[in-house]
Amino acid sequence: MYNRPVLFDQSTSLVKEFSLLQERSKIAVMFDESGKLQAEAFLKEVNNLPTSSLLVTEWLQDETIREFISSQKIGTQIYIAAKWDTACKIFSMSVEEGASEEEIQTFITDEKKRYVYCMKCFNASEISLDEQTVKCSCGTHLEVGSFFSVVRKGYIGYPFIPVVQRQKVGS
Ligand SMILES: [Zn+2]
Repeated sequence: MYNRPVLFDQSTSLVKEFSLLQERSKIAVMFDESGKLQAEAFLKEVNNLPTSSLLVTEWLQDETIREFISSQKIGTQIYIAAKWDTACKIFSMSVEEGASEEEIQTFITDEKKRYVYCMKCFNASEISLDEQTVKCSCGTHLEVGSFFSVVRKGYIGYPFIPVVQRQKVGS
């Protein structure tokens, strides 16, 4: 089965600033309040091209976002400027509507999030961006693997038994 890409901290679609791909002639920008400046600056930059944009507010229905995405013509480059959680939602919807990862650029306005998937209790939990080992809520010590699982939506966490410091005898 084909598993659709999801947004994660090392996604190729994450960018520090939007860039225009030569072969793309249509632009769709989706942004929230926090990504407004980024989105508007980019729209100004590409004003010779056909563009459409959507401000994603917290009151906006998911269906409206989906309709906006599905109404885009094939070959449209998608730009997302938003907070992590909103960006993840828009990214997933875009992929569901047929966009490939290469067709999406995502600019995150807050912190990226990272998840580890516990091989013991099969739950994913949020971890900081640089943690190599974590303790899962089930009590298992996990080594955070380098493999991100699209299915589990997290890095695979491999259980390990921590080395316990032996107490000195006779001290
Ligand atoms: Zn666990």
